[in-house]
Amino acid sequence: MNESAVKKIVVLTSGGDAPGMNAALRAVVRTASHYNIDCYGIREGFNGLINNDFTKMGPRSVKHIISEGGTILRSARSLQFKTPEGRKKAYENCLQHGIEGIVCIGGDGTFRGAKVFYEEYGIKVIGVPGTIDNDIFGTDNTIGYDTALNTAMDAIDKIRDTATSHNRVFFVEVMGRDAGFIALNSGLATGAIDILIPERKDSIEELFATFERAEKAGKSSSIVVVAEGERMGSIYDIAKATQNSFPQYDIRVAVLGHIQRGGSPSCADRVLASRLGYGAVVGLMEGKTNVMVGMQSNRMVYTAIEEAIKKHNEIDQDLLKISEILAI
Ligand code: ATP
Repeated sequence: MNESAVKKIVVLTSGGDAPGMNAALRAVVRTASHYNIDCYGIREGFNGLINNDFTKMGPRSVKHIISEGGTILRSARSLQFKTPEGRKKAYENCLQHGIEGIVCIGGDGTFRGAKVFYEEYGIKVIGVPGTIDNDIFGTDNTIGYDTALNTAMDAIDKIRDTATSHNRVFFVEVMGRDAGFIALNSGLATGAIDILIPERKDSIEELFATFERAEKAGKSSSIVVVAEGERMGSIYDIAKATQNSFPQYDIRVAVLGHIQRGGSPSCADRVLASRLGYGAVVGLMEGKTNVMVGMQSNRMVYTAIEEAIKKHNEIDQDLLKISEILAI
C-alpha cells in the first residue's frame, strides 16, 4: 500500500452501545499500528472530543477486548456536539493534537454528527456501523445485530418453555424503535405466531384472525413478537385488547429490554467488526472521507454518509410471508 495520507487518527464509540464495538476498536487500533499511524482513543463519544479526553492507544491497549461486550471507550449521547460551540471546541482539540482523521463507530445519529463536523472543519471522517438495530443503509449487517438477535432468540426460546407448560399467550417486545429486523428474524427463528413491526401496517383485526386460525389448528400456546416501535400501540395496549376479545386466554407480556445490548459478541459480529475496523483505517489512508464502511454480499464497500443516513434497508417481504406460512 502507498504511504498513508493520514498520520494521526482518533477513534470513538457513540450513541447506543452494541456488542462488537470493542472488536471494531481493536481492529482500528491494530490496523493503525500496522501502518505506523498514531491512534488516539476518545472516551464517551463526541463528548471526549469536546473535553479533550484523548488517550494514545497501541496494540496492547486493546488486548483481550475482542470478546467483551459494551465499549471500553464508553459511549455517550452528546448534546454539546449538536451545537456549533461544542463542535468548535472539538475542532480546536483535534487541531492541538494534529488529528487528520476520525473513525466514528455508532449509528445514524453518530454519522450525522461526523458529517456535520467534516463539512464545517474538513477533518476526514469515516463511519463504522455499530448498532443492534441493523437500520443502516450501505451494509448488509451492522455490528451488534447478530449478537442481539441471538440474545432475543435465546430469551424467546426460554419464554416458549413456560408458555407451553401453562398454555399461555406471550407478547414479547424486542428492541427496534424504527426497524423490525430483530423482531422479524427472532420471530421467524422461534416460530412466533405473529410478528408486529413498524415497517408494516398491522391491524388488531389481523392479529385476532391469526389467533383464531391458531386455535382451529389446535395450538396450545402462542408467542407474538412485537418490535418496540410497532405503530399499532404499546405492547400493553395490544395485550389488553387481545385479553378483552379472548377472555379465555392466559396472557403475559415480556419486555426483553437492555439484555439485547449486552453480552459477548457472536462470531459473526467479531468477524464483521474486525473487517470494518480494518476497512475504516484503510479508507482513511486512501483519502476517503464522509463515507461509511460496510459489507455488502461479502465485499467491503464505502457509502457516502449522506446516503447511509437517508436511505433504509428494506425488510424482506419474503421473510414475513415465510413466517406466516410456517407459524401455523
Ligand atoms: P443508535 O442507533 O444505537 O441509537 P446513534 O449513533 O444513532 O446510535 P444518537 O444518539 O442518535 O445514536 O447519536 C449519537 C450522537 O451523535 C449524539 O448524541 C450527538 O452527539 C451526535 N449527533 C447526532 N445527530 C447530530 C447532529 N445533527 N449534529 C451533530 N451531532 C449529532
